[in-house]
Amino acid sequence: MSEKEDIKHKYSYKSTIKKKYNLTDYQIKQAIERGIVKDYKYVPNPYYSSEESLIINNEELLQHLEEIRKLEKYSENEIQRRKEYNKRSRKISKISFYCPICNAKIRPLRDSYARDAVLKDEIDYEDAKKVVIVTHFRHIHTDYDKIRNKIRKGINYSELVDKLKEEKTNEAIELVKKCGLLPPNFSKEDYDKVAVRIKQLYGLT
Ligand SMILES: [Zn+2]
Repeated sequence: MSEKEDIKHKYSYKSTIKKKYNLTDYQIKQAIERGIVKDYKYVPNPYYSSEESLIINNEELLQHLEEIRKLEKYSENEIQRRKEYNKRSRKISKISFYCPICNAKIRPLRDSYARDAVLKDEIDYEDAKKVVIVTHFRHIHTDYDKIRNKIRKGINYSELVDKLKEEKTNEAIELVKKCGLLPPNFSKEDYDKVAVRIKQLYGLT
């Protein structure tokens, strides 16, 4: 039997093992570090020639499977990263909303200041969510973007954009209220209060 075939029969790739036996990278790493698994080697990765793949003796792995399963699934670092990720996801989901026109859950855009401010605990969820909703409606459910793109860059450019933004924000707020996403007494002034606070946080005024 050639070495290649031998490897095929005797060893399995780490990725295969992880899937087949529901193990994590960290469990396999520890199994090797603690000498539970002794027969392993690195071979050229079949997909990326510059990388190496870990292969492990099947029989040895099976003999110690229960022991390996009892090892910690994640390193301290991974646990911290996961916690941080979950915390961020929870915050973002608090300022996401269901849009009845899109018929979809809308999350704040990645470059949204409201999103960033919430992640940094600079403004509260309720305020940020209002901005996220109105911003979505202004961009998606009014012709704000379409008209703004037609405005020629010139001396009056920012003035014209500001004026358009005012107008379309008002239009968006009315539409949001019609959809029942904000109370009927919500006003443009209420929106501006939060918007100004965010602008100040980021030095945009
Ligand atoms: Zn929508």
